[in-house]
Amino acid sequence: MNKAIILCTAAAGMAAVVACKSNADSNLQAKVDEYAVVEVSSPLLETLSDKDMQVLNLFRSAGRIMDDLFWQQTFGDKSLMEGLADPAARDFAMINYGPWDRLDDNAPFVDGYGPKPLGANYYPSDITAEEFAAFDDPDKNSLYTVLRRDGDGGLKCVWYHDEYKEELDQVCRYLEEAASITENEGLKNYLLKRVKAFRTDDYLESDMAWMDMKDSKIDIVIGPIENYDDKLNESKAAYECFILLKDEERSADLAKYVSMLPELQKMLPCEPEYKTFVPGTSSDLNVYDAIYYSGDCNAGSKTIAINLPNDERVHAAKGTRRLQLYNSMKAKFGKILLPIGRLLVEPGQQKHLRDEAFFWNVTFHEVAHGLGVKETVNGKGSVDEALGTERTTWEEAKADILGLFMVCKLIDMNEIPLITKEDAITTYIAGLVRSVRFGSASSHGRANMMCYNFMKEHGAFTRNKDGQYHIDYEKALQAIDDWAALILKVQAEGDYEFAKEYAARNAVIPEALSADIANVNAHDIPRDIRFDFVW
Ligand SMILES: [Zn+2]
Repeated sequence: MNKAIILCTAAAGMAAVVACKSNADSNLQAKVDEYAVVEVSSPLLETLSDKDMQVLNLFRSAGRIMDDLFWQQTFGDKSLMEGLADPAARDFAMINYGPWDRLDDNAPFVDGYGPKPLGANYYPSDITAEEFAAFDDPDKNSLYTVLRRDGDGGLKCVWYHDEYKEELDQVCRYLEEAASITENEGLKNYLLKRVKAFRTDDYLESDMAWMDMKDSKIDIVIGPIENYDDKLNESKAAYECFILLKDEERSADLAKYVSMLPELQKMLPCEPEYKTFVPGTSSDLNVYDAIYYSGDCNAGSKTIAINLPNDERVHAAKGTRRLQLYNSMKAKFGKILLPIGRLLVEPGQQKHLRDEAFFWNVTFHEVAHGLGVKETVNGKGSVDEALGTERTTWEEAKADILGLFMVCKLIDMNEIPLITKEDAITTYIAGLVRSVRFGSASSHGRANMMCYNFMKEHGAFTRNKDGQYHIDYEKALQAIDDWAALILKVQAEGDYEFAKEYAARNAVIPEALSADIANVNAHDIPRDIRFDFVW
């Protein structure tokens, strides 16, 4: 670092300046390359009718406008970034929707830009938390208003349907046309209600209609949805769009597994009194290929599963829909997890790194949240109440290990045909390394570390003479049972003291793993993916 500065400043003249500039460029190019390019299409497209394809093309046109609107929300004038002379800076700005690096706490990477305003462009750039608090307007916390300066320099609320009227009118025209073409009544109903929502910023009815849409092969999530981009108040919703194709075969398999949950619950390796809870079998969990992402969901890190809508009134009336995005999982596996596994797992066991196993492990993590115990067995109330600040960490650890437990059981029962238990376990262990690459501060990260350390201490894996992981599958299976048993006991007994003390000792990254992560980082393995839509 110091050396580079000395070289740049000491040697006056063009050559030195050019050298420093290209050095900066190559750093940014390296950051662009940390996002592996994935060509997005889907074999499911071939099963669609001409009308379905027309609908998809209209969805895509509407999705492009969501992208433009998100640029306005999170940054402002996109053309400023498109006009950057340095191609690497331009590419990186397109990935991040602005001059701030989303995987590095929004650090600015374009000259002339300071820290990202907390309120992005949802608020005037000079607003302070005090000014916002003092502003008296019932609409100021709405998900669907922006705050702007009025003529006197004060604040005013503007509804999204006014602020972005021209663009939203065009979105509505696309969706109305799609509604007139589709032959699926559920989709048509949802689209028409969504049009109304775009024009009024009242999304409730359209969210309800989306919950009722059970049999459409094609789907679209579109609108202002998540509020994480607003770091000032976490209240303003960001525009985004996913276009999705339902994988009916995998969805049917999954529905069958969910119907087997009561049976699987009885197999859990724990005391009978810890498994009296009967899991629900009606959860709305389906598998999709995501063929288009735009706006908020396309910025920085890409999601591989969706759980929507967010409106609690909809949860109370109809629950939520959970969508597992098969092709995006497969892409993350191929571009990130597989290279990590090839680096760390001994060559003879690398054949067990399988995308299909990754898909089922991740999917059954979701399913497993519905298994186990919900109420303590000793009058301490619900597990959540009893475990307090430790509840999420232990719940995530439970979902992880019971997910793997179920995958292994279903393989034993010949219900999951394409993979072996060795595949599930090897892919799971490589996945733990992938997940702590960016730290273990979150509940998920802490849970992953407890799982990793338990497996290691129980001999599920050791290091061979080259320092690579050698997995002992017998011991791994025993460790899965023992770890599941311990977690279920802690939850059922609501043992907060033990939970806290155990996590403090075990939710840590051991030294050898830190070295593995450094090794991964030294090998230019991508951190995330970006999309090239080729349909
Ligand atoms: Zn979870």
